[in-house]
Amino acid sequence: MLAKEEIINWLKCEDEAELAKLYDRADKIRKENVGDEVHLRGLIEISNYCARLCAYCGIRAENKVTRYRMSKEEIVESALMAKKFGYGTVVLQAGEDYHFTADYIADIIKEIKVQTGMAITLSLGEKSYKELKQWKEAGANRYLIRFETSNPELFKKIHPPLKEGMVCDRFEVLKSLRELGYEVGSGALIGIPGQSYDDLANDILKFKEIDLDMIGVGPFIPHPDTPLGKNPEYRTDGEQVPSNVDMAFKVVALTRIMCPKANIPSTTAVSTLGGAKGRAGGLAKGGNVIMPNMTPVKYRKLYEIYPSKAGSLHDAQKSHDDVIETLTSIGRFPSTGLGNSKNYESRK
Ligand code: SAM
Repeated sequence: MLAKEEIINWLKCEDEAELAKLYDRADKIRKENVGDEVHLRGLIEISNYCARLCAYCGIRAENKVTRYRMSKEEIVESALMAKKFGYGTVVLQAGEDYHFTADYIADIIKEIKVQTGMAITLSLGEKSYKELKQWKEAGANRYLIRFETSNPELFKKIHPPLKEGMVCDRFEVLKSLRELGYEVGSGALIGIPGQSYDDLANDILKFKEIDLDMIGVGPFIPHPDTPLGKNPEYRTDGEQVPSNVDMAFKVVALTRIMCPKANIPSTTAVSTLGGAKGRAGGLAKGGNVIMPNMTPVKYRKLYEIYPSKAGSLHDAQKSHDDVIETLTSIGRFPSTGLGNSKNYESRK
C-alpha cells in the first residue's frame, strides 16, 4: 500500500528508471492477483441521447450531434457478436437517456441473458435505487459509473445537476449498487482542467476506500464543442495534472498497487491517445481488461464523447482482431470465463 505523499511523488516522477520500477511492481501484483488472462468486455453504445450537460463530454444535451438509439434487436445482435467472439460480458453504455424506460432496459437484460448467458454490465448514468434494483433482478450483474473526480468543488463545476437545486451524488449511487449486490465499477478522469496532483491522489485513495471491484481511469481528452474544450481553466500553480498517456500509465500502475484484486481496463481513451502501444502499455502496467467495441459502425462515430475516439471507424470484427493482435504481441491471452472481479468474489 502507498501513503498519499508517495502517490503524489509517483504522479510527479519523470525519472524513467524509477518509473520502470513502479511499473514492474504493478505488473507483478497484477500477475499474482488476477493472472495473465485478459477479460474482454464487449462495449455496446446503445444511445447517444443525453439529458446531462457534463462540461467534458461531446454528447452533452446542448450539442448539435445526430442522435441515435439502438433498437432492442440491434442491441441483442451486437451482444450475440460479443458472444461469438467468446467474451464473458457485454457493457450496455449510453448517455443519460430518459426515453429508455426501466421496463425496456429490463427486457433487454433478460433477452441477452436468455440468448447468451453472458454477464451483463450497465453504464447508464445516475439512476434511482428502484431502477437499479429492477435491473439487478432482471439479471444485470455489474454497473459502471465513474465519480470522475473526488474533489466535490471540481465535480460540481464539470457535472451540473439535471435540474437546479438537485444534488448529484455518484458516491450514493455506488453505495446503492453495492447494497444491491452488483459488481461495482467506478473511476476517474485524469488531467481535468483545474485538477491538482493532490486531487488525483485522493481519487486513487478513494478507489481503495470504497473497495471498488472494477476501476476505469483515462486521460481527459478535450472536445472542442464543450465548455472544458473551449475555455479550460488550467491551474497555474504547477499543480495541474497533465492529461496524457504517461500520466494514465502511472495512475493504472498506482491503482493496481492499491487495489490488487480489482478488474482494471486499459481504456479506450488511452488507446485514442497512444494507439495500440497505449493499449498494450495499460495492460503491461497493471491492466487486465479491454473493452472491444461492438457498436454497429453506423452509430460509432456518433458516440463522439471526444474527438478521434479509437476504433470509431471500425466494425466489430476489426475491433476484435486488433485486441487479439495486441494480446498476442505481449504474451497475454483472452479469458474464457465470465471475468468476475476477484475483488468482488473475495468480498462475497
Ligand atoms: N452516461 C454514463 C455516465 O455518465 O456514466 C455513461 C456514458 S459517459 C459518456 C462514459 C464516460 O466517458 C464518463 O464517465 C467519462 O469519464 C468519459 N468521458 C466523457 N467525455 C470524455 C472526455 N472528453 N475525455 C475523456 N473521457 C470522457
